[in-house]
Amino acid sequence: MKGKVNCWEFMGCKEDKTKKCPAFIKNAGKVCWLVAGAMGNDKPRCVFFEELGDCTKCDFYRYMDT
Ligand code: SF4
Repeated sequence: MKGKVNCWEFMGCKEDKTKKCPAFIKNAGKVCWLVAGAMGNDKPRCVFFEELGDCTKCDFYRYMDT
C-alpha cells in the first residue's frame, strides 16, 4: 500500500480541504511536502502544515519516510 496512497487519502481530507490544496490540485499527493508543505511555495499550504508548522511532525510524512 505504501507509495500508492495520496496524502489526502491517508489524512482523510474531504472536498472542503482538497479543493484548496495545491498538492491535490497538482496531483502531488505522494510528495505533498514539496508542493504544499515545508518545501513548497504554493499558497495556501496544506492545512496540516499550517497546524503543525513542520512536515516532519505529520503522520503522512513519517509514514512515507519510514
Ligand atoms: S503536513 Fe506536509 S507532509 Fe503532511 S500532508 Fe501536509 S504537506 Fe504533506
